[in-house]
Amino acid sequence: MLYKYHCACCEEALPSYNKACPKCGSHHIRSPINLWVFCVVTCFAAVLVFKLVHIYIEDTQDTQTQPFILDVLNQDNTHAPKK
Ligand SMILES: [Zn+2]
Repeated sequence: MLYKYHCACCEEALPSYNKACPKCGSHHIRSPINLWVFCVVTCFAAVLVFKLVHIYIEDTQDTQTQPFILDVLNQDNTHAPKK
């Protein structure tokens, strides 16, 4: 399982109920929760940035197409009086 505690001294995988490493006797047990929280936060941030970029691109595309249509209309208006 990925969800395992590890000894900070010898990297021994420990069950969650162990308060000390049976191999080296160290009490420095690293919790896997920090890693999971980091992964979840990173994934959430990545999704958020992706969404924001997607919205930004859609916004810029909308503002780019609108002046383009206006330019076409203006060109038609400038050509129209010459007829
Ligand atoms: Zn250990």
